[in-house]
Amino acid sequence: MAIERRDFLKLGAGALAFTLAAERAWAQASKIEVLWLGQSATRITTVSGKVIVIDPFLTQNPKTPAQYKNLDALGKVDLILVTHAHGDHYGGVDYLVSRYHPSVVMSEVDWQQTEEKLEFDSQHWGRPPKDDPGRDLRVKDGDKLALGDVSVTLNVTPGHTHGTISPTFDVRDGGRTHRVLLWGGTAFNFGNDIPRLQSYIDATERMARIAKAEGIDVMISNHAGYDGAIDKLAALRKGAASNPFVIGNDAVVRGLQVMGACGKAQRDRYLLEK
Ligand SMILES: [Zn+2]
Repeated sequence: MAIERRDFLKLGAGALAFTLAAERAWAQASKIEVLWLGQSATRITTVSGKVIVIDPFLTQNPKTPAQYKNLDALGKVDLILVTHAHGDHYGGVDYLVSRYHPSVVMSEVDWQQTEEKLEFDSQHWGRPPKDDPGRDLRVKDGDKLALGDVSVTLNVTPGHTHGTISPTFDVRDGGRTHRVLLWGGTAFNFGNDIPRLQSYIDATERMARIAKAEGIDVMISNHAGYDGAIDKLAALRKGAASNPFVIGNDAVVRGLQVMGACGKAQRDRYLLEK
C-alpha cells in the first residue's frame, strides 16, 4: 500500500504559520518542556517556544491537576493534536480555539466522524471541534508535522476509532536520543465489529514492523492507566537509575504483539459466538 507523505511546511497558510520566528526568551533557555496534565492531556513547549497540546480534555477531567482545570492557566497554544475523535481527547478544543486560535490536527477520517455522527458524547466534553480549512489540518497516514525543531510522524492506526493517530517522534534523555511511539487508542469499546477489530490487529502488526525498523524504544499511551505512567513518573522523581519510560525495542515490539493478540482473541470470541 502506498503511503502518502507530505511536508506540512509546503501545505499552505495554516502550516506556514508554524515557521514564524522563535520566541527569544524561551529559545535562549534551549529546553523542551513536557508537562503532563492528567490522563491524555500533555503540553509540549518546543525549544523555539511553540506550544503543542495533545488531547486537551481538562476542565471536567477528574485526573487533571486543580490548577490546570482553568484552561487560561495553560497559557497560549499554537497547535492541538487530537489523537482520536472521542470527547475525552477533544474536550477543551472548542474553548482553546476561541481563546488562542491554534491549528487543530486530527486525521481526515476522524474529522469526518465529528462532522457526521459521534460514537460517544457527554455534556462534560464540550462540542467537537469544527474544522476551519484555513487553520486546521486533516492528516493522512505518514504525514509529518514540523513544528519548530520538532518533527512528528502521524501514523494512522485504525481500530479504536477509524482514524486514530499514533505519533512517532524523537526525544532526548541524558544526552541520548530515543524514539517514541504514542499509541493513540487501545480499548475495544465498539462491540462486535469484526472488520474494525481486524483493522486494529493490522495496525498493531504494521506498527510492530515500524517499531523494529526505526528502533523505537519508548512506548507511551494516551491513557496513563495503560502504560504505568504515574508509577514511572514517581520513580523518576525519586531518582531512578535509568529512565523507566525507556523500555527497549524488544519490549515495544512485544507490547504491540500482545496488543494484537488481544485483538485476535476478541475477534475470535465474536466469531465463535456466531
Ligand atoms: Zn477513545
